[in-house]
Amino acid sequence: MAISITDICENTKMGREFALLGNYETALVYYQGVVQQIHRLLQTISDANRKERWQEIQQQIAQEYEAVKDLQTVLLGFKGDRHNTRPINTRHSPQFGGISDDINSDGDYWPPSSPREPDVWPAPTPVEHKPGPPVKQRQSRRESTSLGNKSGRESYPSASRSSAVKSGPKKGQNNDTKSSGNKSTDQRKKSESIGTDKEEPKERKFDCAGPDNELVEMLERDILQKNPCTNWTDIAALEEAKHLLEEAVVLPMWMPDYFKGIRRPWKGVLMVGPPGTGKTMLAKAVATECGTTFFNVSSSTLTSKYRGESEKLVRLLFEMARFYAPSTIFIDEIDSLCSRRGSDTEHEASRRVKSELLIQMDGINNNDDPTKVVMVLAATNFPWDIDEALRRRLEKRIYIPLPNEDGREALLSINLKEVEKSPALNINDIALRLDGYSGADITNVCRDACMMSMRRRIAGLTPEQIRSLSKDELDLPVSPADFEEAIRKVNKSVSAEDLKKYDKWMAEYGSM
Ligand code: ADP
Repeated sequence: MAISITDICENTKMGREFALLGNYETALVYYQGVVQQIHRLLQTISDANRKERWQEIQQQIAQEYEAVKDLQTVLLGFKGDRHNTRPINTRHSPQFGGISDDINSDGDYWPPSSPREPDVWPAPTPVEHKPGPPVKQRQSRRESTSLGNKSGRESYPSASRSSAVKSGPKKGQNNDTKSSGNKSTDQRKKSESIGTDKEEPKERKFDCAGPDNELVEMLERDILQKNPCTNWTDIAALEEAKHLLEEAVVLPMWMPDYFKGIRRPWKGVLMVGPPGTGKTMLAKAVATECGTTFFNVSSSTLTSKYRGESEKLVRLLFEMARFYAPSTIFIDEIDSLCSRRGSDTEHEASRRVKSELLIQMDGINNNDDPTKVVMVLAATNFPWDIDEALRRRLEKRIYIPLPNEDGREALLSINLKEVEKSPALNINDIALRLDGYSGADITNVCRDACMMSMRRRIAGLTPEQIRSLSKDELDLPVSPADFEEAIRKVNKSVSAEDLKKYDKWMAEYGSM
């Protein structure tokens, strides 16, 4: 992957500007990114002179980073907030090369004074926070403080965090402790009354006024999903995929000693298949069942909505995922990152986001602690649009097929579990009729069938008459005739041609 020198210059400029403006944490993020980009660039340079020159630059940037970090530490020290002074969380930031106090304490601060460059990026030292709490805990924490921290763990080290410490509660977050119980409310009140003096780490909140305000809000609102609430049992069939995903995420947490070196956890899994086959559901179930924090992001959101900020968003996303690890980052429609359609600028935006994604994926799970697994789960309906670099990082590529007969039966049972069925209804017959339908198609058929009796009952009635109907009058058992009609109305969404394309791609690139 080519590293753009323009990007390096641009990021350096940004780092310096933020440092000059006194936004040290954001500056540190940029400096770290630059150091890492130079590291990657160095790996591609064979000319010794050029390499040496870049190593000098890298060292200079690292020194600037140190200077900014010192400034930040001193400033936070003035605030009497030393226990919260951990700057950008480089210890859990393998993507940034783990420039950390820990490396410093060895007296072997990187980059070293010798031009030697590590083949393998130094592994980050174990983090202080405990393994990620179960999803439910995370949910209440997030509800109560957005990305702030109620649990007593260290706060998420985003670029906005320090400004949160400086400026207190986030605008528009007055109600944000609603669900966290009395204890949290008390803590919040207490903290508010004390002001910024000796603020409890639990009370730290994100500040809307910071430059990353929009990104942080976007992560909170659209990406960090509270509780996906999807269980394996909600998903019909797909046993192999469930098994593989569970193994990829859970086993490394159970057997950390085993999942090291060549057995390190997968960095990424790509789920390939026709639309509506349950890829998104699987990702959600991984998060629910495996107790990982779930980051649900669509590629189109990354490339369109937040253009210009998208790379930073990706960086922030991975940083956050590491902090809350074990985490699952689900990237839907990953093919759209490689889209060549659209204008030049669109293409450029996608390219930059993709580059950042590759950098971040290269950094994940390089540490020695498999309980801190960050797993990228991607999904696509168009695997042939994914370029080689991205495909390579998605080490496991699994096919999520249309449901077979058993799967269709299971899907029908799941969809109809809450409705009354006519004794004449034969699920097996219907499953046979639905050959070639996707899971989403079958759900649509069921929905339609379940509403048929109601439609018949209200036909020709006035609104008043409809409103006066009792629930029992509407709630009639779903019958074979209802399904007949629904199947006539809902067509399959996947063609035989499409299926051939998937088969061909999987034969060439699949890795189950
Ligand atoms: P994809 O991400 O593959 O496009 P989704 O996971 O979003 O598909 O599924 C769309 C909808 O189809 C789901 O909300 C669900 O109602 C239904 N569905 C698809 N596959 C399954 C399945 N295997 N089990 C249960 N429901 C399914």
